Amino acid sequence: MRAVFLDRDDTLIDTRGATAHTPHPGDLVDPSAVRLLPGVAQGLGRLQQAGYRLVVTTSQGGVARGVGTLADVERVNDRLRGLLAEAGVRLAGVYACPFHPRGVVPAFTAEHPWRKPGPGMILTAADELGIDLRVSAAVGDMARDAEAALAAGIPPDRVCLVESPKAQPANTGAPATRHPLGVCRVSDLSAFADLLLMS
Ligand SMILES: [Mg+2]
Repeated sequence: MRAVFLDRDDTLIDTRGATAHTPHPGDLVDPSAVRLLPGVAQGLGRLQQAGYRLVVTTSQGGVARGVGTLADVERVNDRLRGLLAEAGVRLAGVYACPFHPRGVVPAFTAEHPWRKPGPGMILTAADELGIDLRVSAAVGDMARDAEAALAAGIPPDRVCLVESPKAQPANTGAPATRHPLGVCRVSDLSAFADLLLMS
């Protein structure tokens, strides 16, 4: 079984824009603010059609930092599942890491193997869902997303970074270019699907 491992924040949904004017930019805890980024529903639909299981792995250090609770994270994840279901897309799993070494909530204030760039979430998901990482792929928006995927054993030519929606708002449609890590850079999830399904 093969899968695509998906970062959540600013890869599938916009958090930076949605939280820019809150005290905690980037930490989205309000499910009503969840919006799919351009190309996500279409790109994931095509990957699903091609036989990839879709697995979200998301660092949610805001839980350790006291911005929201695990229940808040779950509500946002549920909203994401709902929006994708409307497009006929089903997530095989959603894994969230609430730990952060500089937190304020004692139960979650620690380094943890699940925390990116560690590969723990991907390795656990692969084990639980029976996924072969050598034929899987991953996409995120931060270098640590790519580092986690590479450390888990996903081949470098199947690891991509999307342009951050905040950093590059006008870059949709740009051709894939190489990132310093050696992984591909794409404009959005639809361009990622193009690239993966061509290879
Ligand atoms: Mg992200």
